[in-house]
Amino acid sequence: MRRNRNVKIVATLGPASSTYDVIKALHEAGADVFRLNMSHGEHADIAKRHDIIRQVEKDLNSPIGILADLQGPKLRVGTFENEFEDLEAGASFRLDLNDEPGSKERVQLPHPEIFAALKTGAHLLINDGKIRLEVESCGADFAQCRVEIGGTISDRKGVNVPDVVLPLAALSDKDRKDLEFVCDLGVDWLALSFVQRPQDLLEARELAAGRAAILSKIEKPTAVEQFDEILNVSDGIMVARGDLGVELPVQNVPPIQKRLVRKCRAAAKPVIVATQMLESMIESPMPTRAEVSDVATAIYEGADAIMLSAESAAGQYPIEAVTTMDNVATEVESDPTYTSIIEASRSANRTSVAEGIVAAAREIAETTEVKAICCYTESGTTALLTARERPRVPIIAMTSLMETARRLALSWGTNCVMSGPKKRFKHAVISAVRATLSEGYATADDQVVVTAGVPFNIPGTTNILRVAPCDERQIYSTELE
Ligand code: PGA
Ligand code: MN
Repeated sequence: MRRNRNVKIVATLGPASSTYDVIKALHEAGADVFRLNMSHGEHADIAKRHDIIRQVEKDLNSPIGILADLQGPKLRVGTFENEFEDLEAGASFRLDLNDEPGSKERVQLPHPEIFAALKTGAHLLINDGKIRLEVESCGADFAQCRVEIGGTISDRKGVNVPDVVLPLAALSDKDRKDLEFVCDLGVDWLALSFVQRPQDLLEARELAAGRAAILSKIEKPTAVEQFDEILNVSDGIMVARGDLGVELPVQNVPPIQKRLVRKCRAAAKPVIVATQMLESMIESPMPTRAEVSDVATAIYEGADAIMLSAESAAGQYPIEAVTTMDNVATEVESDPTYTSIIEASRSANRTSVAEGIVAAAREIAETTEVKAICCYTESGTTALLTARERPRVPIIAMTSLMETARRLALSWGTNCVMSGPKKRFKHAVISAVRATLSEGYATADDQVVVTAGVPFNIPGTTNILRVAPCDERQIYSTELE
């Protein structure tokens, strides 16, 4: 679906957005990728949403990306005899393995691995960081804590342990089952929660076996510390600001976001900025000015995608939330300051022929009347490299692989057009021109840049660039093959 912006929009689906009509309306309003959150919903709900997305994709003839977000090793306390307790600052509170209902003095934390890793002085955060405990002493099956910041604790509240690298497998049993289920359905991206180290990607990659690309959610301090290594083994990144802002002081999140977005662009891997972007729109049709500014900031920074969580999954105004993001993006991207920021942060580090070709394509598009860059791409790499250049004209990724088109739905500025295998470059140029015209990016008087790898049947060989007229007769009449 043709967009008037480059940044992509990811919309999480949930109870507020699980019918054909709403999902279609969300896509039409601007959602390029749908996120299926495996922390909520039965497999039957997930399968239903997945099937509806594919139906919309077919009906609108517009490739759509689907991202399945695995829950990861989420820690929770047990239950309480009275459902909840108010913990006061200064009080002592004990966590243990005992499955008896909790009280004002203690509650179960059913994760022996945590006790094994805890140290005196470490902190435990409960209920999105609202309650803060400091460990005073601990053993194999308990942690005796002092309440630093009090609050209400209730059944099965989430626990964050920011100070320690936890000896937890990156995938829980539930994650393994979910992974198999969603790969079977045919999702395009898997998001891994609470990634701690680069090795955490290995098992997921092995189980996915190429069926889906893998994105690491950065929401732990240790993931921030080892970010370069994690980025190296990931296909994409999510700046998961919700848990990140619990595990680290909230004021650390903006500089981390800026740094991570830059690094992802330099590595030509898509990055999503996520969580609380339009939080107030869960209940209000109008965003706050601060939220609009937050969305704009992510776009100015050059993020590939911005994400809606509860706003689209459970809120009252899912379509309005997507429309708001779309409007902000259109406005920001037409601001000359945006162009100058994006161009000032382009990396000059190019080592391959393909990188040279895409840089040349971008430069030609800047200095001439060229209206689009059409790149032939099978694995998607050439499209990612072109997107990294952040050209001023639209990128049209021509591919014969639906899975490539769907994965690229997450990448800045890439518009995918399905195009069967080609034998001759001239035919590739003609298909590219036709796609550009039919998508409305140019008219017959314009020109486009076409890049490809010739011969066509060898992957990873982008080695040719042509500035072509959009008038087919002129292409036929050239002597170029
Ligand atoms: P979640 O991840 O919504 O799955 O928790 C995003 C975040 O933590 O920001
Ligand atoms: Mn999270």
